[in-house]
Amino acid sequence: MDMQTSFLDRLFEKGLLIDTGVDGLYGRSGQFEDVITAFERLIDRTGGIDGAEAIRFPPGINRAHFEKSGYMKSFPQLAGTVHSFCGCELDHINLLKCMDEGDDWTKEQKATDIVLTPAACYPLYPTIAKRGNLPKDGGLYDIQSYCFRHEPSKDPARQQLFRMREYVRMGTEKDVTDFRQTWMDRGVKMMETVGLDVEIDVANDPFFGRAGKMLANNQRDQNLKFELLIPVTSAANKTACMSFNYHQDAFGTKWGLNLDNGQVAHTACVGFGLERIALALFAKHGLDVQEWPATVRETLWG
Ligand code: ATP
Ligand code: ZN
Repeated sequence: MDMQTSFLDRLFEKGLLIDTGVDGLYGRSGQFEDVITAFERLIDRTGGIDGAEAIRFPPGINRAHFEKSGYMKSFPQLAGTVHSFCGCELDHINLLKCMDEGDDWTKEQKATDIVLTPAACYPLYPTIAKRGNLPKDGGLYDIQSYCFRHEPSKDPARQQLFRMREYVRMGTEKDVTDFRQTWMDRGVKMMETVGLDVEIDVANDPFFGRAGKMLANNQRDQNLKFELLIPVTSAANKTACMSFNYHQDAFGTKWGLNLDNGQVAHTACVGFGLERIALALFAKHGLDVQEWPATVRETLWG
């Protein structure tokens, strides 16, 4: 059995994660959630002084906004759409018959106006653009959402529904690149205070297909994405537990996000993968929170 499957099995046995029969779709125990809540408090303590505006969206995005985002161009393999039954009574009879016979009953489901959120910050850009020009110092937002990505896996750190906590900065090029650097430094320090070994490296998004290779190379060459890596199931293949993304003026242009002087805004976001961070803590300090080092417990619950 590989390391990923055995860690997943140990998490199930201990009841920290709850098997649903679908890879990457898990229940979480109170203890698991308590670790995430404690880590989010650490995020609040670290970022709180910046005075970000907190906004929470449910884990669904307006389909029109999703279409405009261009997500299907880059990551069609990861997207999840919400479909519903929209038929008449006769259609309903056919649907039940289809289910009874074990046929594919989903074919007649129709797309709704909702798509599952692929990254926590996606619903933010159109929301802020609708307000008009940004304030004088730009904008800073605190976001958290469940996100969906269709990437079933036995690796407990690769889930299909997981939470991302993000800070998003909109402003001048300097505003947003300074913001990103600040969070890279803070991220490293935060992980050290909870006893995790970290490394920061340049990264790329999993763009689809052959054309995607070029986009990925371009993203790397321009240092647009960094990840904070922590060993979870393997010391050799570390897991990205935070990411730091600079979008240049791409989102500003796409969504019509402008500075107070009317110039196009630059944007950057930093994301914490909350389940991955909890899993990194369990992998490093053991599955029994009572046994974690006192300094780590103090930082999280002190
Ligand atoms: P990876 O390269 O591991 O697939 P990614 O580049 O797709 O990650 P981002 O799109 O930057 O990740 O997402 C922001 C953060 O969300 C990541 O740094 C990670 O911590 C977390 N994350 C991403 N995908 C998953 C997943 N499938 N399960 C759990 N957490 C995830
Ligand atoms: Zn983001």
